[in-house]
Amino acid sequence: KKIQPKKDSYVIASDSTFAPFEFQNSDGKYEGIDVDLVQRIAELQDFDIEFKFIGFSSAVQAVESGQADAMIAGMTITDEREKSFDFSTPYFNSGIQIAVKKGNDKIHSYEDLKGEKVGAKIGTESADFLEANKDKYGYTVKYLDTTDALYSALEIGEIDAMMDDYPVIGYGVAQKQPLATPIPREEGGKYGFAVKKGKNPELIQMFNEGLAELKRTGEYDEIIGKYVKDGS
Ligand code: GLN
Repeated sequence: KKIQPKKDSYVIASDSTFAPFEFQNSDGKYEGIDVDLVQRIAELQDFDIEFKFIGFSSAVQAVESGQADAMIAGMTITDEREKSFDFSTPYFNSGIQIAVKKGNDKIHSYEDLKGEKVGAKIGTESADFLEANKDKYGYTVKYLDTTDALYSALEIGEIDAMMDDYPVIGYGVAQKQPLATPIPREEGGKYGFAVKKGKNPELIQMFNEGLAELKRTGEYDEIIGKYVKDGS
């Protein structure tokens, strides 16, 4: 028996550029793992959605303030976030990693970041990690709004290193962004689809049912395989 949607349409907030999870293709249309998953799940479970690609911290605020019903944005399930969000079953295993400009051969460990400027996107797991370890390693943290802004800042030398989710950096490298990843990644983050705590429980249920079906049929693997070629 199918779960009944309670709204004519659900507003889903997302990041603005977080390839391969959400990004604008050459036609200016948004696509990516998160986009494809939610679109297919909405079809399978018979509910309507409207995506808003507003950036990560804006998406968090939109869900918290009730302007969006849910978010999907490569969002890591953390104990802290579980205080204010309800998450779906995890849909992707991730983690975070430092990237430097290709050709930079000075940095091989966190200790080598001493005195350097390291960038991260506001409100993310990478930002928290950098903040928690800055005294230990002696770098300063620069906050930017988007992953694209991090890549540009690195390119022009405004920052010496950046930290972001490793599937995103891996995709950047595969797309020939001039990046290198000399420091082993921090594994363990899992992505979830999220609603505000206690709100829209049927939406989480429908997402979980739809995700289970996509996994059963192999469509989940097809969607991932469309964007992630080398298992990185
Ligand atoms: N996974 C990271 C987090 O949840 C980054 C998400 C993002 O930048 N869209 O903080």
